[in-house]
Amino acid sequence: MKEKKNNALAEIVSALMDANTVLIFPHISMDGDAMGSSAALCAALRKAGKTAHVVVEEELPDMVAFLDRGYCTENPALPGRPDVCVCVDCGEYRRFPKRKALFLSGALSICVDHHKTTTPFLDLNYIDGAAAATAEIMYDLISLMGVGIDAEIGGALYAGIVTDTGKFQYSNTTRKTHLIAAELHAVGVRAAEISILLYQNERMEKRLMESRILGEAELFAGGRAVISCITRKMLEETGGRLDETDGVTEMLRDIRGVELACLLKEKSPRTIKVSLRSKRDFDVAAFSEENGGGGHVRAAGFTAKGRSVEAVKAKLMRELEERLSCVAQPGK
Ligand code: 5GP
Ligand code: MN
Repeated sequence: MKEKKNNALAEIVSALMDANTVLIFPHISMDGDAMGSSAALCAALRKAGKTAHVVVEEELPDMVAFLDRGYCTENPALPGRPDVCVCVDCGEYRRFPKRKALFLSGALSICVDHHKTTTPFLDLNYIDGAAAATAEIMYDLISLMGVGIDAEIGGALYAGIVTDTGKFQYSNTTRKTHLIAAELHAVGVRAAEISILLYQNERMEKRLMESRILGEAELFAGGRAVISCITRKMLEETGGRLDETDGVTEMLRDIRGVELACLLKEKSPRTIKVSLRSKRDFDVAAFSEENGGGGHVRAAGFTAKGRSVEAVKAKLMRELEERLSCVAQPGK
């Protein structure tokens, strides 16, 4: 396969402006950045007179559902093949598996992403691993479209940025991140309201599930790592849902002395989704990539196959403990 390269954002904007129909593909297990970036792009394209839809393959997670203002559909009705298909906040077919055929039916394909584990693979690509969120890139892209960022587009971008920066806490947060956020305030984005919708709107069942996950947490590697799980049984007992585990791995990471946090989510008896977070030094993106997944240096994941959650857990604990022994300990 011919090696692809990154394109200028302006080339991507002109391809989008030349199109009549555009389909947008966020990754599965949608988070605030995937949904916010996709919603913002869809709104901007519609403002520019295009037919645009965000195509999804799962029910929207509760946390991001408020960002869907008539953008999302599982079956976009188009008169013919789409002119452009764009994947957003992801860069491989495995991240939108059930929509791959529809994606490939587009006359032109585009990738807009900020995962450092993504390599350019489509007709046009803009992948910036230094961007705090795909929403940051989308801010620049929509600005170049010249349609004007209004409070609706801005709100979606703001939600993406807040989510991926951990509310402006993580090392991916830069001066540019804050400047964009300031501009979004200027166009009428109600930041406090978005925070309430994202973070102060939890179902009680989610809290019960979280308390079980925290109760199951086990420190290992001398307290430098923590691991926990959410099984089908725990979901049944608490009424929680797998798409509601957002924020729990972070709670585990936030424990004093912990460098690495790991949450195992039992999707089906043999398929376990692994979520990893680190604080300062452990490259979870590299570890996840070795295991067929990807992500960011401090937040990444992959899917593991195994006999049971316990079996995957035991294997991971051994591997991670060994890896951690090669990572410097602060103050030592
Ligand atoms: P989470 O743990 O919240 O599911 O994911 C953390 C980060 O890693 C997100 O940026 C997400 O897109 C990425 N990520 C999670 N799982 C996978 C995976 O299986 N493959 C890839 N490429 N990225 C993943
Ligand atoms: Mn993202």
